[in-house]
Amino acid sequence: MADIYPKAKRSQIMSRVRAQGNLKTELALVKLLRQHHITGWRRHLKLFGNPDFVFREHRLTIFVDGCFWHGCPKHSSQPTTNRAFWKKKLQMNKDRDRFVTRTLRQGGWRVLRIWQHELSKRAEARCVERVRKYLRP
Ligand SMILES: [Zn+2]
Repeated sequence: MADIYPKAKRSQIMSRVRAQGNLKTELALVKLLRQHHITGWRRHLKLFGNPDFVFREHRLTIFVDGCFWHGCPKHSSQPTTNRAFWKKKLQMNKDRDRFVTRTLRQGGWRVLRIWQHELSKRAEARCVERVRKYLRP
């Protein structure tokens, strides 16, 4: 089926979807950290690549990656309209993620990337354990 929106409009709509979706997953992690009394983090510190969470003392950055936008191997699905456009766009996102991770690591930061699906009720205990592991000295 053809997209009912012209490309520019679609792009605008989807970027709004992304911003809201990301905020929701970020807040899910905020809630989880608070529930488990994990402290020492800040959000939106000015740092290369704009990590979602930074534990400065532990030199740890956390990114919460939406399954669609960041190409999760379990849930990424390619839209069926404007196929070439999306393929390129999602590949660019993945490339950027890799570049950001590498750059931060070179600067002495540790980088933990958490998939949106790891914040589901079923997976959250394991997710907290992953964060804790990174915080151990
Ligand atoms: Zn996923």
